[in-house]
Amino acid sequence: APAAEEAKPGLLGRLIGRPDATVVRRTLDDDMLESLEELLIASDMGVDTALRVTANIAEGRFGKKLSTTEIKTLLADEITRIMEPVAKPLPLFPKKPQVVLVVGVNGSGKTTTIGKLASQFKGAGKKVVIAAGDTFRAAAVEQLQVWGERAGVPVLTAPEGSDPASLAFDAMTRAEADGADLLMIDTAGRLQNRKDLMEELAKIVRVIRKKDETAPHNTLLVLDATTGQNALSQVETFQKLADVSGLVMTKLDGTAKGGVLVALADKFGLPIHAIGVGEQIDDLAPFDPEEFARALTG
Ligand code: GDP
Repeated sequence: APAAEEAKPGLLGRLIGRPDATVVRRTLDDDMLESLEELLIASDMGVDTALRVTANIAEGRFGKKLSTTEIKTLLADEITRIMEPVAKPLPLFPKKPQVVLVVGVNGSGKTTTIGKLASQFKGAGKKVVIAAGDTFRAAAVEQLQVWGERAGVPVLTAPEGSDPASLAFDAMTRAEADGADLLMIDTAGRLQNRKDLMEELAKIVRVIRKKDETAPHNTLLVLDATTGQNALSQVETFQKLADVSGLVMTKLDGTAKGGVLVALADKFGLPIHAIGVGEQIDDLAPFDPEEFARALTG
C-alpha cells in the first residue's frame, strides 16, 4: 500500500528531511555523526552496532564534506558488509529425510513460515512432511493443517496434550516410509515455562536421533521483526534451549524498522535463511543484503 510506504522514510530521508537533500553537502563532524548514531539506534540497530557502523563511516573521512548520497552509499555499504556473511538459504543435505526443527515464541510466525517453506520446497520438487509438534495448542495444530492443505503437504498430528517427542518419532517413521526429502517439525513456544520447554525440545531431539543420529539437520529460529530489540534476547534464550542453526525473520513487510537484523548479524552471526514479507503462502523471500541495506537507508 502506498500509504504504508510513505510512512516509512529511509534513515537518511529522516536525517535530512528534504527531497532535494541528495545534493546538499554536509561536513562529517561530531554533530553529523551523532545524528547518524541516533537514527541507527532508532532503527533498532542497537547501540553497539550503531556506534561501530558510524565509526567505520567516519574513519578517514572526519571533517570532510559529503553529499547525502555519498553518506547514504557509505551507510548502505557498511550494512551490506555486515549482512552479506549471514545471507544464506537453508542448506540442503543429501539426507532423507532432512529434519528441520522449527522453534520460536508463539506468535512469531512459526506456523506460517513452515507452510511457506513447505510450499517452496514442494515447488522445487521435494517431498515434504510436517509434524504438528505444538500438541498443547489445538489452534496451532489446526492452523498448521490449513497451511499443509494450502501447500499440498501432509501434516501429522497427535491428540491434544500428547507427547510431542512421540509424535516426532512417528513423523520420522512416516517420512522414512514415504521417502520424504524433508521433515519439518513445529514445536511449542511457551517461554513462560522455560524448563519444561527445554526438556520438551531435548526429548524431541533425543527421540529423533534414535532414527537418525545426525538429526535435526537444521534448527530454525523464527523471529518477529516487529519485536525490535526483543529479538536479540529471544536468540539468547533459544540458544540455551536448542542448538539454533539459523534464523527466519518474519513481518518485515510491516512497520518493522529492520535495523534489528543488523544487530543480530553483528552480534550472533547466525545465517538468515529467509524473510517473511506478508501473510500469503508466497510471501517468503531469500534474504538479499544489498536490497535490505538500500531499503533501510532509503
Ligand atoms: P506462530 O504462533 O509462531 O505459529 O505464529 P503464526 O504463524 O500463527 O503467525 C502469527 C501471525 O503473524 C499470523 O497472523 C500470521 O498471519 C502473521 N505473520 C506471520 N508471518 C508474517 C509475515 O511475514 N508478515 C506479516 N505481515 N504477517 C505475518
